[in-house]
Amino acid sequence: MEKVISVSLGELALKGSNRKYFEDQLIKQIMNKTKDIRYDKLYKEQGKIYIEANEEKFESLMEKLKNVFGLVYISPCIRVEKDIEAIEEACILNMKERLEKDPNIKTFKVDTNRADKNFAFTSPEISREIGKRLLNKFDNLNVDVHNPDLYMYIDIKQTHAYIYSERIKAYGGMPIGTSGKALLLISGGIDSPVAGFMMAKRGVSLSCVHYHSYPFTSERGEEKVKELAKKLSMYTGKIKFYSVNILNIQKEINEKCPEKEMTIISRKFMMRIAEKIARYNKLDALITGESLGQVASQTMQGLTVTDESVSIPVFRPLIGMDKVDIIEIARDIDTLETSNLPFEDCCTVFLPKHPVTNPSVENIKRSEEALDVETLVKDAIDNMKVYIIK
Ligand code: ATP
Ligand code: MG
Repeated sequence: MEKVISVSLGELALKGSNRKYFEDQLIKQIMNKTKDIRYDKLYKEQGKIYIEANEEKFESLMEKLKNVFGLVYISPCIRVEKDIEAIEEACILNMKERLEKDPNIKTFKVDTNRADKNFAFTSPEISREIGKRLLNKFDNLNVDVHNPDLYMYIDIKQTHAYIYSERIKAYGGMPIGTSGKALLLISGGIDSPVAGFMMAKRGVSLSCVHYHSYPFTSERGEEKVKELAKKLSMYTGKIKFYSVNILNIQKEINEKCPEKEMTIISRKFMMRIAEKIARYNKLDALITGESLGQVASQTMQGLTVTDESVSIPVFRPLIGMDKVDIIEIARDIDTLETSNLPFEDCCTVFLPKHPVTNPSVENIKRSEEALDVETLVKDAIDNMKVYIIK
């Protein structure tokens, strides 16, 4: 009888012939994420991944595993021989441990999954037999097949049987890197880190670009954004972070374009610079934290104008979300507190009193004729700084 951790792989099951590739990516990431914790062995068996380790390390291992995208549940298990007596013993032990932690458990249901179809008993037979034995052992427990306080799971696999009653929910999604690479436009706000998280969860590997207006914005402001990227890197692994000063661009716009178009024209520059960085570094798309109607530049017309400045795909995973729901995710992924720190953002330096809410592509283009777009973009990129965040 040994204790192991099992990991269930959600949507990977849908991937058909690509399955092995996705599983391998996932294993690579698990190994990477847990490399500071020495475990004894990691192996696959019939659709699940198992980790053998000293039980003292379970908690820290599970904490790390929770942040790996592509897995849905993590369970501390007891691994035993495929033998009814051994299975019974493991179930009793597991039940005892659970009852110690939570005396309110009054009802249970045994749920058996037989991946090894050669095993002598069927799943319902095993569930019934073990259920009976647990009832005999624990006087205060009853069976409830509809709404039990505890599910006792039994997985019968090729080599062993696995017993567990806790399924700790992970984020699901896809292993990082299996859905391509993208460049996240990250501000110090609440939205863009959440947008990055959501795309990363779907398997996109992230780089970040941040625009500042130093010395109008502070170094502490930039540190804050790096801190946000660091929080994201807990999920994604190390992140390449491009820091671009756009003060000159903003000064030019401020001087030569209508005041109310300041924000939207700056936004176009952000997109252009991001596209250049992305193409140069073989990143396939941009990600922003925009959500429809949230502020003046995020109206349908505003988004049309910003989109028009680039030909690379732009993903806006928050487009249909309300602020309260975005905040909820930010809290959950631990970026909210950092986002709420008060530092100047480059957008607030030249904030127009009455920004346009229905800009047209043509009007904005006409305003931009006063600017040497290409040179401004090139100068900004020539002076950018690159950091590795981990
Ligand atoms: P956020 O909370 O992400 O700052 P927001 O609601 O404040 O978003 P805007 O300020 O209009 O919205 O910015 C829209 C998007 O443009 C951001 O989500 C981000 O992707 C990008 N962006 C804005 N400012 C910057 C910046 N200084 N550096 C990089 N990207 C930025
Ligand atoms: Mg913002």
